[in-house]
Amino acid sequence: MAQSLSRRRFLGAVTGGAAITAVSHGGVGARRPGNSGAQPAALGGSPVRTAPFPSWPVRDATEEQALTDVVRSGRWNRGPQVERFEAEYARLTGAAHCLATANGTSALLATLGALDVGPGDEVIVPPYTFVATINAVLLRHALPVFVDTDVETFQIDARKVGAAITERTKVVMPVHLGGAVADLDTILAAAAVRRVPVVEDACQAHLAEWKGRKVGTYGRAGCFSFQASKNLNCAEGGAILTNDAELLETCYRFHNNSRGRATTGSSDFSYRGVGANLRLTDFQAAMLLAQMTRLEQQTRTRDANGAYLTSLLSEIGGITPARTYAGCTRNAYHLYMCRYDSAAFGGLTRAQFLEALRAEGVPASGGYSPLTKEPSVVETLAGRGYQRIYGKPELGRLAERNQCPENERLCSEAVWLTQTMLLGPRTDMDQIAEAIRKIQRHAAALRSL
Ligand SMILES: *Cc1c(COP(=O)(O)O)cnc(C)c1O
Repeated sequence: MAQSLSRRRFLGAVTGGAAITAVSHGGVGARRPGNSGAQPAALGGSPVRTAPFPSWPVRDATEEQALTDVVRSGRWNRGPQVERFEAEYARLTGAAHCLATANGTSALLATLGALDVGPGDEVIVPPYTFVATINAVLLRHALPVFVDTDVETFQIDARKVGAAITERTKVVMPVHLGGAVADLDTILAAAAVRRVPVVEDACQAHLAEWKGRKVGTYGRAGCFSFQASKNLNCAEGGAILTNDAELLETCYRFHNNSRGRATTGSSDFSYRGVGANLRLTDFQAAMLLAQMTRLEQQTRTRDANGAYLTSLLSEIGGITPARTYAGCTRNAYHLYMCRYDSAAFGGLTRAQFLEALRAEGVPASGGYSPLTKEPSVVETLAGRGYQRIYGKPELGRLAERNQCPENERLCSEAVWLTQTMLLGPRTDMDQIAEAIRKIQRHAAALRSL
């Protein structure tokens, strides 16, 4: 079933003419001896792959009907569709409660707001993440304390979390980067010793599992993003999962300009604390409900293809796929991540490697740059607000603590493929591996390009 579904999707993603090209360039063709001796595409040879990878988003009449139904209902703002989505996402993840938000950033912001993170507080974060993780902390005027990366897994180095916790640590916020899972056992244990809540940034990890249970349900709260590139997509959207009913209501108020839930027929105009408008609409929730009909199947396809690709790439010297921790029983593969060692490719730089790979029909990127050095973060910490709250000496000490040399190394070695590339047939994985092997064979010639 997985095979036939993903194959149908793969063929559906390309036009008729291109589909024929795709088949003739399939896994079997890619392995022909004649083909393996061919020139790299960057040097004028024919590319390993000419067909596009599966397109994203995947959609059909379900989405159109869902949107039409909302239009006709006349209820466009937060309403029955949002409530249905919240119940369904909680059921799917096994969480007691779910609150939908405008996007992943606002899920993080509302959670930190509900936990009263503010000036003078420290929040432990990884340096290898999307900048939104850090922005949520900065918007609360708290201090981001970076804990270095475990380069083998691309995740926060959980062994270093305990030592980074101080009396001022208000939240530990690991990220399940790329859809794999941070070492939750070690993080939860370190945080529990100091009674610090853990908030999981699971914005890339829909349906990922730790020891058989969905991520986002281990910490005090878990935050998700449904932005267009994410594995579950409604253009812009987010959600908070929690088993803590009281925290859920505080998050609700924060995301609703500090107002509680309306009781039937009457609006609640009692405000408590500060808040903003971070609500999701019924349009987006209807899209999520439609997209969710495919989420489990897509997650299985990515998981199978990702594991197979790892078995292929592990055989190539100089390519090291990201390892997962033993507790990670399901990788959501928002990204397929590996490390590139230029020495095993005759000194071909990563930039040259990525360019040659793209020429072979395999789009890849080098991923994040170090957030500890990111000008927007550095300038915010050096800016007027932070200087007023903390003063120069304290911010200087933070900069010392925030050194992350392992992460800087990782940022220079990383290679990423995106989640959509794992949605096609298994032969796509063969072609990705073949493209890399071909580049390795011709590394010397490519280097002098
Ligand atoms: C996408 C993402 C976010 C932010 O989500 P938005 O919906 O884009 O606001 C936060 N953290 C991580 C790790 C993400 O990948």
